[in-house]
Amino acid sequence: MLYLDNSATTKIHPEVLDAMMPYLKEEYGNPSSKYYSLAENAKKAVARAREHVAALFGCDSDEVVFTSGATESNNMIIKGVADYYGSLDDANNYLLTTKVEHPSVIETFNYLGDRGYEVSFLEVDQYARVDFQKIKEGIEKRPLLTSIIWGNNEVGSINPINEISALFEENGLFLHTDATQVVGKVPVNLKETKGIRFLSMSGHKIGGPKGIGAAIVRKQSNEIFTKITPLLHGGGQENNYRSGTLAVHNIVGLGKAAELALNKLEQNVNRLNELENYLMNILKSNFSGRIKFNSDVKNKIPGLISIQFIGVNNELLLKKLSNYVALSTGSACSATKPSHVLSAAGKSLGEIRQTVRVTLSPNLSESDLDFFKQIQ
Ligand code: PMP
Repeated sequence: MLYLDNSATTKIHPEVLDAMMPYLKEEYGNPSSKYYSLAENAKKAVARAREHVAALFGCDSDEVVFTSGATESNNMIIKGVADYYGSLDDANNYLLTTKVEHPSVIETFNYLGDRGYEVSFLEVDQYARVDFQKIKEGIEKRPLLTSIIWGNNEVGSINPINEISALFEENGLFLHTDATQVVGKVPVNLKETKGIRFLSMSGHKIGGPKGIGAAIVRKQSNEIFTKITPLLHGGGQENNYRSGTLAVHNIVGLGKAAELALNKLEQNVNRLNELENYLMNILKSNFSGRIKFNSDVKNKIPGLISIQFIGVNNELLLKKLSNYVALSTGSACSATKPSHVLSAAGKSLGEIRQTVRVTLSPNLSESDLDFFKQIQ
């Protein structure tokens, strides 16, 4: 089976699995316990993993909050800021985002909207990228929080995050970015993008295990100290932001995946670009005049290609190929609910139903992709 759905999830990296195994077997201590070596070993392993995650993002280790994944990070940050800083009694309850966020952002905004917060969703261009001018206009009302996806999971377009970050730094406003799809694919250095106060990521998108991720909560900038209301109250783990016994094995796995993602960033990106060029050439020659690309080829996530196969129903195509290749329509796309990302990018329902997302892994070979030469 040819696996080309690496934006949905990735195969766990063998080094990640090896690093995790002791913490599923003999090293089973609770890192919150004290004095004895099993607990101390677990604590040290968590601390090392935290350092690796911090290094990946160029932040301090006490700015890393381990969560169950990007869905939780997004919920925690958005609800946490809204609750801590907002007040439904006065005008201080405005939240801004875009129309092309992951459902874990969109639905959190909708939830807060139903609770009485004022929420606004920015329009995007044909590649599902947000318009810098529209953000500028959007923040005139000084939102409590603005959430802007770094790289889109359906079409791969990358937002101009450096300029956006600078704008928020200048204005002393809170910016959150969902970086789930760009981690390990583009350099992320929060020391350079100081306007990003919050970031979300998931381990299983970078060769880590499922059920673990991080919320990065920067401590301070522009004299503003960050505070958020926790989603989970309890024993006070994770600086009081996220209570619950730490999933040490998963955290160790995330730490190893983060270390690999950082060390192999350039190598992986080069390989993804090579493979993507190879595949694009096959697609262009084999499907000449019968395909359209939805992504902005100049500025997108390496290895993510969103293609419209003109006149071909995507679900039927995927089902037909399902014994040979794992592909995606790009999102949970049903008759009643077509992709909100492609709709926002101006695609018709017909075009959306012909769209297929291919997401590559650096571990593929060119001969794997020759599969596309056989499809007519
Ligand atoms: N944000 C983006 C951009 C994603 O692609 C995903 C995963 N599809 C998530 C958030 C949620 O990640 P998880 O399911 O691991 O919580």
